[in-house]
Amino acid sequence: MPRAAQQTLPDARGHFGPYGGRFVPETLVAPLEELERAYRRARADRGFAQTLNHLLADFAGRPTPLYFAERLTRYLGGARVYLKREDLLHTGAHKINNCLGQGLLAARLGKRRLIAETGAGQHGVATAAVAAHLGLKCTVYMGEEDMARQRLNVVRIEMLGAEVIPVVSGSRTLKDAINEAMRDWVTNVESSHYLLGSVCGAHPYPMMVRDFQSVIGREARAQILRAEKRLPDLLLACVGGGSNAIGLFREFLGEAAVKMLGVEAGGRGSALGEHAARLGLRSRRNGARPGVLHGTYTYVLQDKHGQISTTHSVSAGLDYPAVGPEHAFLRDAGRVVYTAVGDEEALAAARLLAEQEGIIPALEPAHALAELVKRAPKMRRNQVIIVNLSGRGDKDMDILSRHLPTGMA
Ligand SMILES: *Cc1c(COP(=O)(O)O)cnc(C)c1O
Repeated sequence: MPRAAQQTLPDARGHFGPYGGRFVPETLVAPLEELERAYRRARADRGFAQTLNHLLADFAGRPTPLYFAERLTRYLGGARVYLKREDLLHTGAHKINNCLGQGLLAARLGKRRLIAETGAGQHGVATAAVAAHLGLKCTVYMGEEDMARQRLNVVRIEMLGAEVIPVVSGSRTLKDAINEAMRDWVTNVESSHYLLGSVCGAHPYPMMVRDFQSVIGREARAQILRAEKRLPDLLLACVGGGSNAIGLFREFLGEAAVKMLGVEAGGRGSALGEHAARLGLRSRRNGARPGVLHGTYTYVLQDKHGQISTTHSVSAGLDYPAVGPEHAFLRDAGRVVYTAVGDEEALAAARLLAEQEGIIPALEPAHALAELVKRAPKMRRNQVIIVNLSGRGDKDMDILSRHLPTGMA
């Protein structure tokens, strides 16, 4: 794909090829247009960039290191493995990059309140932290099921002065939390900004969130050129909504020699309801077809009547039936390959990284690490892989402890 073509997506109406767009109730059209105008102005404003860069550095802790995983490389016996250490950021994941960008934008728009949805809780924590920093109120919607499995993050959000509202509808996970957050926004659109956490939803969110996360790939490119004097052969990232993946990939999309692999949640199996693989499972029967969810046209897991399917993953952050529209486009274009990794493989990969490198990853990037374990040994020793380590494992210690060999907890 020519670099120029890639850089100009989405088009003026928010389309990535056939995907994307803006499928929302009438009341949200004007606020989304206002948001898009404000974002385009901010993007061209040097003052905005300076403030954002200052916060990314001093509040969030950028740049994050690009770490050469020497022991893991030796253990796998193939390509040289580098980890982009988004896990070292303030609040524990890449989410803060986007929250700072959108938080500053909301303040420019004169909004006094942030609304967010959260799955694993990382986006809720990052939004609450940014709200506290900017002196804004904050309401976070979280499915009851997710509140139970990510207890620590619920406490962190409340500690930061934000309100957590349990969502009891549907499967009581991320999809339902987004529905409730959108309902709140429709009602309170004058005073509130909806701070969406991934490259999903209606235009301009997929574009805006991607741009805020692209700092990951810009840094990684400069860092790998310094360390290896060449571009990487392969990029690996997990794909929930797709923001950490596109954040790493974007800067390299114009480089034909750089291969990219997005890793989704294979869950417990390939039957509909047992996984969250929208792009990655080969089977025709896994239920992924283009459709509209949460304001955008993309691949959606659905039954034969078009009802949105439930999903399963050990990792709450990957447990979502749709995927960012740009990923749907990149898959059809053949530019990025998508695959799925199951719960057990991800848990084993998390333990491997902890034991080999002294780093406990979140369960989401553990999916990318499980794919690394399959790929790296088949590559040559002079080849280079970058894995996006999107977050740290603190929030997952309960789940991880149940899978320790000693069978603790
Ligand atoms: C939220 C989250 C993800 C999934 O979201 P993307 O938008 O796909 O990046 C992945 N990793 C971590 C650590 C997360 O918190």
